[in-house]
Amino acid sequence: MSLSPLVEIVDLEKQFPLARTASEFLHGRPRRAIHAVDKLSLSVQAGETVGLIGESGSGKTTLGWLVARLHEPTGGKILFEGQDAHALAGAELRHWRRNVQVVFQDPVGSLDPRLKVWQIVGEPIRAQDRTDRVILRRERRRTRRANARRAAGAPPASLPPMPPRLTRREVRSRVRALLPSVGLPQDCLDQYAHEFSGGGRQRLALARALSVNPKLVILDEPTSALDVAVQAQILNRMVELQRTTGVAYLLITHNVAAVRYVADRVAVMYLGQLVEVGTVRGVLEKPIHPYTKALLAAVPVADARRRRTRFRIGGDVPSLIDPPPGCRFAPRCPFAIDRCRVEDPHLREIPAAPGQLVACHLAEQVREVVPTSLLENAPAPSAPAPAPPTGSGAPGRG
Ligand code: SF4
Repeated sequence: MSLSPLVEIVDLEKQFPLARTASEFLHGRPRRAIHAVDKLSLSVQAGETVGLIGESGSGKTTLGWLVARLHEPTGGKILFEGQDAHALAGAELRHWRRNVQVVFQDPVGSLDPRLKVWQIVGEPIRAQDRTDRVILRRERRRTRRANARRAAGAPPASLPPMPPRLTRREVRSRVRALLPSVGLPQDCLDQYAHEFSGGGRQRLALARALSVNPKLVILDEPTSALDVAVQAQILNRMVELQRTTGVAYLLITHNVAAVRYVADRVAVMYLGQLVEVGTVRGVLEKPIHPYTKALLAAVPVADARRRRTRFRIGGDVPSLIDPPPGCRFAPRCPFAIDRCRVEDPHLREIPAAPGQLVACHLAEQVREVVPTSLLENAPAPSAPAPAPPTGSGAPGRG
């Protein structure tokens, strides 16, 4: 029996419209748009970590912001526990925000320099207290109205109790109790963010996100600004916290090693679309999509024999402004055939790799091509494109 997912993203689209040029305006051409996220579907289970990897500009952060409702989608929907997250408004939306928190890449920019630690971490606690009180007040009003209309002789429904507003002392005590869980000392309540190192600030950001017991935390490059030792400490904390609280993570990163360490599943994104989704072991050990193979082959390894190997994929990166039909990786793919340039590949499971979804027309054929062979045989950027393989035969190797 499969559990229903915590988050279900269905055919999600986000387009950023561009200003019309004078020529487009004069010729009555429609406004063009950047297709940052295009017909993307993905799910996250409760307590799971999904790593989202891909090169810069692939739309990873836009996707994270859409899930957190920091962007409005142009199409598709995001279901959170079965409820359309983008249909919520008012107090319900503020209440929903408790469940989805974000840790941003830049802890300096995301922490208010005028606030002390207890205020930074306590801010979501106070905001949620206010929201809870608004919802309770509404519920009490509704109960009173129902009591006024009740039939003669029927007993009145009891009003839900209204707890007292959180005091400053209570907020400070909750923050004090939370700080050790992210590795910060309890006596730093009255310090400012600038008094902490990069790792300390990111711990603060993590504490702020976890202060309201969310069900999902979106981590947007949480360790990219930190040195390796601190990265390991933060990742260890995240894993420990997940074990104790059951929170789910959507980890957006370039750091494949971090994904290997903390994630349960990996989703690979290329130019606004998912090209491969599967378990960490499946995708990182046996990648199927040519882009995933090239991406993983580009990860530096401590091996003197591979140090001289250069990462090369021929062709240009297509523009995200009104992209043409077909596979977006086709101009760079050494295996592309005519079909790839006209027909969009959809995520599908192939029999040889159950549970692993790949968006490639030739997934069965390219599956066995190991990343190293792709690297060594890929053409230089200026070289002519390799001869395309036939649809039925074994793929060429560039
Ligand atoms: Fe895209 Fe075709 Fe290459 Fe597959 S083989 S990645 S569908 S261009």
